[in-house]
Amino acid sequence: MATSSFRPDGSRIGVEAEKPSFSLDIATTGHDDLHSGGAPWPNRFPDLRQGSVDADQRCDVLVVGGGITGALLAHALVLRNLDVLLIDREPPGLGSTAASTAMLQWEIDSPLAELADLHGFEAAADTYRKSLCAVQGLKELVKSIALPCEFRQRNTLYLAAGEAGATELRNEHALRQRAGLPGEYLGHAGLLAHMGIDREAAILSPGSADVDPLCLAHGLLRRALSHGLRLRAGEALSYDGGARSVLVELAGGRCVEARHVVLATGYAMPDIIPAGNHSVVSSWAISTVPQVQGSLWKDECLIWEASESYHYLRTSRDGRIIIGGEDETVAAHAERDEAIPDKARLLQAALSDIWPRADTRIGTSWAGFFGQTADGLPLIGRVPGHPRILAAYGYGGNGITFSFMAAGLLASLISGAEQGWFSRFALDRATP
Ligand SMILES: Cc1cc2nc3c(=O)[nH]c(=O)nc-3n(C[C@H](O)[C@H](O)[C@H](O)COP(=O)(O)OP(=O)(O)OC[C@H]3O[C@@H](n4cnc5c(N)ncnc54)[C@H](O)[C@@H]3O)c2cc1C
Repeated sequence: MATSSFRPDGSRIGVEAEKPSFSLDIATTGHDDLHSGGAPWPNRFPDLRQGSVDADQRCDVLVVGGGITGALLAHALVLRNLDVLLIDREPPGLGSTAASTAMLQWEIDSPLAELADLHGFEAAADTYRKSLCAVQGLKELVKSIALPCEFRQRNTLYLAAGEAGATELRNEHALRQRAGLPGEYLGHAGLLAHMGIDREAAILSPGSADVDPLCLAHGLLRRALSHGLRLRAGEALSYDGGARSVLVELAGGRCVEARHVVLATGYAMPDIIPAGNHSVVSSWAISTVPQVQGSLWKDECLIWEASESYHYLRTSRDGRIIIGGEDETVAAHAERDEAIPDKARLLQAALSDIWPRADTRIGTSWAGFFGQTADGLPLIGRVPGHPRILAAYGYGGNGITFSFMAAGLLASLISGAEQGWFSRFALDRATP
């Protein structure tokens, strides 16, 4: 069955695998009891893993990783009546998913103008439209299964920043209109009058959302469990692929034989994956104390900046402001965590700049890793040379939108229906 071995040295997979992928720092400026010691999203859930893999197993699909990607995918696969085993070496949801600010945007990290330069206008416009449909699809999924995950529909405000001024935003808006995407251009006066924000220009767009990412991931996993998912503690160490199945060796000596394996391991991808188009980045975030009633911006829309290194803002249900950004290619936990207090101060300053009425006292501050690509598109598809091993990662700031897309695409692929356009996300596509 097994014809080739990808990890002959049996070396460990992942980036500093033994440590959690996000860290919290309860800042001394305005200690907040409600969040002290907790995650940015209160982890009120039990560990959903039903023990560990204590005997060799067989399944149709082995999903490695129980963050938002693994949860959405497992849910999609069990609904197709497949026998699915999901393993995670940590309690599910506590990877990058728990660190996410969970803004569900259809706007991609790369502006449409930039994506059109790289892939051509039609392909770029189509990708943007599919992203818009993905947020809509997630909304319908949450509604259809009545998932209590604090899902809220939101507008987004894309603000002029850095090199991207009024001219660039007007051009971007015109391209979006040509692509049939919704949104309205606001010049300085309109932005100030309509939103109370003093920037050169912005694009205000409907169709996005926000959510509690842990509630979403756990809710999906619970539902998948009720449809037959097997969810176990286990760490995948090596992958041995054959023509009909893949043999996966786990820490502790057990093996899983699966017809298909999906790597949903977030930023910690094994080295059978081509590294060329992917880098691990750190992002920092703070959540403020609850704001005075009536002091938040109009409609509490999601806000993000048009600069390459941008800040992103949302509100929480209990009236806090969450702001993230200051991203850097720091892939070492210690360095990333040491920077939390300094980054938190920078985020407070950025918040004051965008919304001077904000009470910037900090409730919680944290940092996390995520993967990004040079062209802003995710990496979803077959691992080159290993047709039965699939992966989904490198989502940039659109982790949840793209993981919803990945779940649909990979579930279809496993069921034998491949969609042509999906080659835009190929793991071995040319790096721009
Ligand atoms: C500060 C910050 C803010 C963000 N904000 C947003 C946002 O607003 N909107 C958005 O859409 N995205 C955002 N993101 C990105 C988003 O959080 C991620 O893209 C997304 O959570 C990735 O989910 P995942 O399931 O692929 O990975 P993860 O959540 O990291 O899950 C991977 C899982 O795999 C497990 N695992 C890894 N290796 C193995 C192994 N060998 N064996 C077994 N298990 C293994 C891990 O334990 C983990 O549970 C943000 C990220 C950060 C850090």
